[in-house]
Amino acid sequence: MAKKIPTRLYLDEEEIPKTWYNLRSDMVNKPDPILHPGTLKPAAATDLEAVFCKECVKQELDETTRLIPIPEGLQEFYRAYRPAPLIRAYFLEKALGTPAEIYYKHEGTNTSGSHKLNSAAAQAFYARAEGLTSLTTETGAGQWGSAMAMACAFYGLDLTVYMVKVSSEQKPYRKALIETYGANLIPSPSNTTESGRKILEQNPNTGGSLGCAISEAIETSVKTDKCRYVLGSVMNHVLLHQSIIGQEARAALEKYGVTPDIIIGCAGGGSNLGGLIAPFMGDKIRGTSKTRFIAVEPASCPSFTRGRYAYDFGDTAKTTPLIRMYTLGSGFMPSANHAGGLRYHGMNPILSKLYKDGYLEARSAVQTDVFDAAVKFAKIEGILPAPESSHAIKAAIDEALECKRTGEKKVILFGLTGTGYFDMSAYMSYNAKTMSDSIPTDADLEKGFASIPEIPQNR
Ligand SMILES: *Cc1c(COP(=O)(O)O)cnc(C)c1O
Repeated sequence: MAKKIPTRLYLDEEEIPKTWYNLRSDMVNKPDPILHPGTLKPAAATDLEAVFCKECVKQELDETTRLIPIPEGLQEFYRAYRPAPLIRAYFLEKALGTPAEIYYKHEGTNTSGSHKLNSAAAQAFYARAEGLTSLTTETGAGQWGSAMAMACAFYGLDLTVYMVKVSSEQKPYRKALIETYGANLIPSPSNTTESGRKILEQNPNTGGSLGCAISEAIETSVKTDKCRYVLGSVMNHVLLHQSIIGQEARAALEKYGVTPDIIIGCAGGGSNLGGLIAPFMGDKIRGTSKTRFIAVEPASCPSFTRGRYAYDFGDTAKTTPLIRMYTLGSGFMPSANHAGGLRYHGMNPILSKLYKDGYLEARSAVQTDVFDAAVKFAKIEGILPAPESSHAIKAAIDEALECKRTGEKKVILFGLTGTGYFDMSAYMSYNAKTMSDSIPTDADLEKGFASIPEIPQNR
């Protein structure tokens, strides 16, 4: 007899995973290698170590080790805010009148407010263990900057955060949070770097962009002794750290004999989605499950649904290695959207490969529909979701309503990546009915595609 499923599917402290799961080890067709932008040959560890911590580089390039130990000094920090709650959405099921079971993994309960802390803590831990004294990074919407500031405070590292200028002006409380945890926050573009000064000369009134903030952060890390750069999404090592989400979810569901039929996550650079689905996707690749996986992205930044699968740069200044991924082009400028964490032109290479090979589905949603779902969820389940997370909520509701139509009793699991407390200006705009939708035209997309490098591998 299956146990009655509680509203919160608890895991004990000792059940928190002690290893990360490397999904690539089970992929028959691996993602294409990262290329050095000069030689167009696969990037060597030494190329990447100029920018990233050694252990992260090792993980980035590791396609074979299945389980990678989570160091004890990091497990200790994880225990302070994990396991993250896995919740059965009984109220939502009832309100929708669906025969489906809906579950969500809530990663927004830590003070930084999102799943990003899982990788921030790992990267700060390794930096400290390698004897580095400081880190640099960029932040757009502010969640990654907050997570890194919290992690660096814990592990005793200095942190410089280049925050996209418009964002630092629009989200003063994110800026304040980052500074409270002790990080040095610099609105980007700034006059502290060559790349920043160049952009300011050309366009003194620019509000900045994520690509530009990345260029500034990398430049500072390279020029500073015992300093490296950290990134909060897109890279394979970030996805690896986030596999703790999926492993916890699977462990808790297994306790109660529950197997998901559909798993849904929002997709910006792909880290939460990749982490949530990792162990379940491993089952699917090995042929032991038929779970469907759905990525949900904003219609204003549709990397999967309208992008190209090509080698591209990770930043606007074209300084990063080349990554084969679904991309809108590093020169693509997404229109303003309240889900700042989903405004990235590219997508993690593992997820890109899985999408290309038909293991993963993708769809897009406009922000007014996303906020309809967010507000409905807040009223029914009581949790105020981040705008990014609400993309997954929208798709979960749609799938549950489809079950109502067909009478199927499917099990749906989605990732609730963060809290919406710092996004009240977005909710204010929704409440005032001043929120609008913007979908790029094919001509807009062509401009972005023109920035994809014309290298032999892309022909
Ligand atoms: C950054 C962020 C995302 C998107 O990033 P991924 O790497 O695609 O997971 C989603 N939700 C929240 C709350 C975020 O902060």
